Amino acid sequence: MIGIFGGTFDPVHYGHLRSALEVKELFGLDEVRLIPSSQPPHRSQPHATASMRVQMLNMAIANQPGLVIDTREIDRAGASYMVLTLESLRQDFPDQPLLLFIGSDAFNQLTSWHQWQRLFDFAHIVVLTRPGFPVLLLDEFFAVRQVGDRDELAQNLSGKLYCQPITQLDISATAVRKIFADHHNPAFLLPDAVIAYINQNKLYQAQIAH
Ligand code: ATP
Repeated sequence: MIGIFGGTFDPVHYGHLRSALEVKELFGLDEVRLIPSSQPPHRSQPHATASMRVQMLNMAIANQPGLVIDTREIDRAGASYMVLTLESLRQDFPDQPLLLFIGSDAFNQLTSWHQWQRLFDFAHIVVLTRPGFPVLLLDEFFAVRQVGDRDELAQNLSGKLYCQPITQLDISATAVRKIFADHHNPAFLLPDAVIAYINQNKLYQAQIAH
């Protein structure tokens, strides 16, 4: 089984990295593919360039077997629609279940994503929930796909929905950018090599970093 973890990674931080590692172990995945978006359809454009975000990811996952950077959204021209990403991953991995991990906040907006129903044609969706905050599956489309047993994901290539409570570190890229802009110390929020890279390249210096 292959895990898919999309994001802007502007910059990557320990919230992303711990989650990727935890789901890899929890679901017994062969690999988790971290997929930086090129032009996120739902949010403002990234502050760092695509190649800088990829370089920071490379530094962050050095020596972590099983975490892989996948640049297909950056290599592809146009909007980073997840349905296109999953379609191309399915071509590359025709025989493997694909697990798309989505935070519960993002999942609650899923019906605004481009061709959102088709996501299930290519992958399972695993919603990462905060303990004690179950996701409300308001749409019947989701309810009929939900499974309560993690093992059912391995028995199908795609099409199921599973909710996984996870303890999230309270770190966001927005907060990290603000720490750099305010010239405060970002230690212990992201890897030292990434901090050094940001400082060398004078990234996230703008006072209004959001
Ligand atoms: P920003 O603050 O710029 O919105 P972010 O820190 O939320 O960025 P993204 O790159 O937008 O990071 O998020 C990519 C993915 O990582 C999303 O699925 C998001 O839910 C997840 N994620 C972000 N922060 C954390 C965290 N602290 N713990 C676990 N998952 C996280």
